Amino acid sequence: MTSKPGSFAKRIYLPRLLGSAAGFWAVSVVLNDSAMPAWVWILLVFHGFIWPHVAYMLARKVPVPYLVECRNMIVESAFGGLWVAAMQFNALPCTLLVSMFCMNCIAVGGPRLLIASLPMMASICVVASAFLGSSFLPETHHDQVYACLPMLAVYPIAVAWAAYKLAAKLAEHKRQFKEASRFDSLTGLLNQGAWKTVLNEEFMAARHRELPSTLALIDIDHFKAINDTHGHPVGDEVIRLLTATLRESSRSIDVAGRLGGDEFGLVLRNATASQAEVMLLRLKQSITDVFTAQSDLPRVSLSIGAAQLSRPMGEPQDWLVAADAALYDAKRQGRNRLVISAPEEVVARG
Ligand code: GH3
Ligand code: MG
Repeated sequence: MTSKPGSFAKRIYLPRLLGSAAGFWAVSVVLNDSAMPAWVWILLVFHGFIWPHVAYMLARKVPVPYLVECRNMIVESAFGGLWVAAMQFNALPCTLLVSMFCMNCIAVGGPRLLIASLPMMASICVVASAFLGSSFLPETHHDQVYACLPMLAVYPIAVAWAAYKLAAKLAEHKRQFKEASRFDSLTGLLNQGAWKTVLNEEFMAARHRELPSTLALIDIDHFKAINDTHGHPVGDEVIRLLTATLRESSRSIDVAGRLGGDEFGLVLRNATASQAEVMLLRLKQSITDVFTAQSDLPRVSLSIGAAQLSRPMGEPQDWLVAADAALYDAKRQGRNRLVISAPEEVVARG
């Protein structure tokens, strides 16, 4: 879920391309009215049309393009200082240039990058003023005002568009991350937290609709011994195969989750204890069959405790406690069995 290499540089590329070209137009119209040495014009052409590609190439392939982009912004601050001096502090284009630069800096690296860049801009401005013999001519003529308009109109839109795309991408990453965090990585089933949320919802819904619902807790017998004897990777494979069988054996309305280690939860919606009993015994048999057919995996048996939702249960936790007590009974009675508690009875099945 991390950004692809170069995507950060790419996001900045188009706004910079447009901004530099529009900046070239504004600065060149102002410089046209004064006699500037050739090297100033060469630098202006470089900044306007070549620099965006150089900046992109520099940031494109590196592992942390953000740091290169911060350095690029420092270079741009030096150019900014030079243009302010060369334009002899002409009020509108200079203010426009500096404010667009500040906007860009904050968009890329926040106020810290801005604070780091401004001294560079100021010092280059002072040195260039001395070098070019610039004076202070803040007045802006009509043609210079019009020359500023493309930058004023285009650049903020390009930066806002890039910021919007970034925000949309971050929102998508956040959604994907949140979705992924609901699932157990080994089995792909809901993890304990997400499954308990479903359990709570089912508790409320079944109560509200007055429909039966049964909760089953499924635990592998002597799983620790399987790990100890065959190794952890085989233990993992057992859990995966059990999960696949659990998925195949349950209905689409049932909700399975991994509660941790070798314990699984299954909410059997719209099922009474006796209906759940048929399904769970079928699941047990499928597990036996599947593992018997796998010569490279150990035999596996399950203990299952189940409880149908009943009136005296005041909250979801009571339902979970009832199923847990049934599971405990299944273990205590010798494992490899199903103990199911219906509202009026507790039944054990081998
Ligand atoms: P019981 O019949 O009473 O359930 O005994 P058990 O050995 O199955 O029960 P216990 O809870 O003591 O053992 C569960 C083991 O599951 C302990 C732990 O090392 C192992 N385990 C937990 N998570 C994983 C996992 O992701 N992969 C593997 N291979 N083992 C795991
Ligand atoms: Mg176990």
